[in-house]
Amino acid sequence: MTWTNWAGNVTATPAEVVRAVTVDDVRAAVGRAAAGRAAGGGAGLRVGGTGHSFTPLVATEGVLLTLDGLRGITGVDPESRRVRVAAGTPFHELNPALQDLGLALPNLGDIDRQTLAGAIATGTHGTGSRRRGIAAAVCGLTLVLADGSLVTCSADAEPDLFEAARVGLGALGVVVEVELQCVPAFRLHAKEGTVRLSRLLTGLQAEADAHDHLDVHWFPHTDRVMIKRNNRVAPGEGPPPLPPWRHRLDDDLLANRVYERLNRAVARRPGAARAANRLASSILGSREYADDSWKVFSSPRDVRFVEMEYAVPRSSVEAVVTELRSWFDRTREPVTFPVELRFTGGDDVWFSTAYQRDNAYVAVHQYHRMDPRPMFAAFEAIAAEHQGRPHWGKVHTLGAERLHGLYPRFDAFREVRDRVDPQRLFTNDHVRHLLGD
Ligand SMILES: Cc1cc2nc3c(=O)[nH]c(=O)nc-3n(C[C@H](O)[C@H](O)[C@H](O)COP(=O)(O)OP(=O)(O)OC[C@H]3O[C@@H](n4cnc5c(N)ncnc54)[C@H](O)[C@@H]3O)c2cc1C
Repeated sequence: MTWTNWAGNVTATPAEVVRAVTVDDVRAAVGRAAAGRAAGGGAGLRVGGTGHSFTPLVATEGVLLTLDGLRGITGVDPESRRVRVAAGTPFHELNPALQDLGLALPNLGDIDRQTLAGAIATGTHGTGSRRRGIAAAVCGLTLVLADGSLVTCSADAEPDLFEAARVGLGALGVVVEVELQCVPAFRLHAKEGTVRLSRLLTGLQAEADAHDHLDVHWFPHTDRVMIKRNNRVAPGEGPPPLPPWRHRLDDDLLANRVYERLNRAVARRPGAARAANRLASSILGSREYADDSWKVFSSPRDVRFVEMEYAVPRSSVEAVVTELRSWFDRTREPVTFPVELRFTGGDDVWFSTAYQRDNAYVAVHQYHRMDPRPMFAAFEAIAAEHQGRPHWGKVHTLGAERLHGLYPRFDAFREVRDRVDPQRLFTNDHVRHLLGD
């Protein structure tokens, strides 16, 4: 069987694919893979979510384990607003289920297709200079470890395992259940429009702080930016939700089907990239509405692309964007996808890109039928000058030596791994490159 990730840039041929429905299925798969490893064979076990990572984290020639059958909310404490969730639950199922309980996650990324465990394992984040990534909302984890044991960890029980496994890259064990600290369900008032990059850059920090969730999309080769300002409002406040026809027009037809055609045209005639970006930035016009938070955070993304994203200290964001713009001006590299800017506050999760640092996130994307390498190489060099930490799930080339200097708890993570997976059951070439063995 050939496994391919969402973007199509990573493929693998696992020896065996196991779709677990129960925790016992997980333990049995881990036990078999560990026995194979102990007998001197077997290429280990990697656990996969929905394959939305652009890096080869999931790729394996051994056992590929997915938790397709482990879904849903398994427990609720209404007083503390904590919920326990089966690790294979995708956000598009989790979000409405939380809403039915009057709860929500405090922040989310821009799609809802990933599994909960897959998203937290790579430090998936949304935006909001006073908000944090999804892993920061995790208050407990239950894992199957390499020896087959089932361990529940939190800030009080097995705290080192907890700190490491919150963003654990699937390298410490198989997460089967996640406890989340939720907030009361809330609504967002969304205001989307266009501004000039040259004007925005002079006041970007203030703009980020003025809104609960700021999301910026700059179209390369132009001075045009699509800006999304999302702010929390009380029930009944703000304009009405978008009617279904407007969702179909904006999110399905324009942002996906028309956009796919535009990108295909540029893939055939790269010289048309600038004109295509001017067109794309003008058809995605202004709109204003209010809706449940999770409906505002996520939208469908059907046009395939590959992405690199670096977290940089937020004070560096203007310099990074200015250097990137100079590179586009110099090279005229045909890139049609916007450069995305987001912000989060710092957290205390060991492998979070926001570990003890307020961040701006700068993400570059390339249409999947076009060559991303020149842009990725140039952007990675710029990010390196600003202590950039790469998103674990998005394309980057950093290995253990460099990551060690970027993550103060790198050695502590490796110590936990030595303890819980001394035989390196949960590894592959990419994980070895990241962690150093
Ligand atoms: C269109 C698109 C939009 C995106 N938007 C955002 C965004 O807004 N913000 C952002 O930060 N990222 C974003 N991403 C990146 C994405 O959120 C991450 O790559 C995420 O990890 C994908 O989750 P997944 O379920 O597909 O996991 P996979 O990609 O399948 O796996 C990711 C990692 O999780 C591990 N894993 C999975 N399940 C388990 C488990 N049960 N136990 C232990 N480890 C496990 C895997 O081993 C692997 O290391 C986006 C990606 C795409 C393609």
